[in-house]
Amino acid sequence: MQSLFGKTLEELEQIISDLKQPRFVAKQLAQWLYEKRATEFAEMTNLSLKLRTSLQDNYTIGRYAPIKYAQSTDGTKKYLFKVAENQFVETVYLPENDRHTLCISTQAGCKMGCAFCMTGTLGFHGNLSAGEILNQIYSIPESKLITNIVVMGEGEPCDNIDNVLTALKILTSGYALAWSPKRITVSSVGYVPGLRRLLEETDCHIAISLHNPIARERAEIMPIEKRYPIEQVVQLLRQYDFAHQRRLSFEYICFHGQNDTIRYANALRKLLNGLPSRVNLIKFHQTESNIHTTTASELCSSDEQQMLWLRDYLSDSGITCTIRRSRGEDILAACGMLVNALTGHPNEGKNLKNDNNKIK
Ligand code: SF4
Repeated sequence: MQSLFGKTLEELEQIISDLKQPRFVAKQLAQWLYEKRATEFAEMTNLSLKLRTSLQDNYTIGRYAPIKYAQSTDGTKKYLFKVAENQFVETVYLPENDRHTLCISTQAGCKMGCAFCMTGTLGFHGNLSAGEILNQIYSIPESKLITNIVVMGEGEPCDNIDNVLTALKILTSGYALAWSPKRITVSSVGYVPGLRRLLEETDCHIAISLHNPIARERAEIMPIEKRYPIEQVVQLLRQYDFAHQRRLSFEYICFHGQNDTIRYANALRKLLNGLPSRVNLIKFHQTESNIHTTTASELCSSDEQQMLWLRDYLSDSGITCTIRRSRGEDILAACGMLVNALTGHPNEGKNLKNDNNKIK
């Protein structure tokens, strides 16, 4: 049976029209699904009993709880969702003072094959539907506390752009949670066709996974460079306004001697010259399982002193630059570490109570 969760108002209008109901009922249904967070048709008390029965007979709501979680000593929580038979994704909740950020996945695994990323080792297992993307936001126990969303979990969002755009459209709509796009950041390695649509069709903040400004060397750790060179990506970004409400950042994992010296700092200055943006320096989380290619085996984390030097050098050159604090490393929840580890280790991660697909 088809799920209703993840359908836009227009799609719900079609369903309601097929059931010979007046159009305004679709809005009521959308509000029950997205604003009032109903998980049972019986809750939708302003819909007629006949319609509720008919919906129940033909559709599922499509909400489901995560099946496991692990909690870091720093408060970060990683949730495991089962999206299909033998298909899982992870979602990371990062509370910090008044800010509660959720990092969501858009694909099960990933096909981009970045050498330093554990998710890349999973291979690609499928696109998440708009409902599966939204379900991560709605179905963690802390759902109502979330203040910010980063689309930086498993997968390349711009490689699943239709479903990502649908999920963002619903999330920012008045019939759902009416989220401001300014609370949402979508990351991309620079998959140009999807990135162009993201830039055109949303006002969300953009984060580009850069990691090396020198094309030949970037291609060694990020195969996407061969298809869509970073120069081309930056040229595209220059056509949009990032000087006002919308923010642009570049994610930069620091590798000892491989991208953290003056040679790279100067190449970064040249590449980003005059582009209103920020560079986020990120510590490389080296584990045995992300050493999966010859290239990756040569990568190790920059030391703190070098990261501080790079930050100061870029800042003095007029590039806003910060070092992003690492979160959840002990539960493999930090950047590039999502590998569905909770599926493989029965003792790792705790089963959630009420794990019967009921959302409490
Ligand atoms: Fe995929 Fe992102 Fe990992 Fe690259 S860094 S393999 S795009 S999940």
